[in-house]
Amino acid sequence: MDLKTVKFILTTTFLVIIAALLIGSFTNNQLLIYIMLGFFAIFALVYLVGWRCPECKKHLGKLVVRKCKHCGHRIDV
Ligand SMILES: [Zn+2]
Repeated sequence: MDLKTVKFILTTTFLVIIAALLIGSFTNNQLLIYIMLGFFAIFALVYLVGWRCPECKKHLGKLVVRKCKHCGHRIDV
């Protein structure tokens, strides 16, 4: 998976989780909790599996990153 795609999925799922949290705090919708958990699972999985340096394959950590902290490879996403 391309790092740009990974970042896109992470940003989108993160926003959906935040939106569901906000809407969920105003309404009492059970379905929203399940949607949130579902998206959280996707987020966690993609973060753990996909958010890696293309050069050394080590995990990048923070979502806002300019270069790999392990090998110094430039990350331009
Ligand atoms: Zn690296």
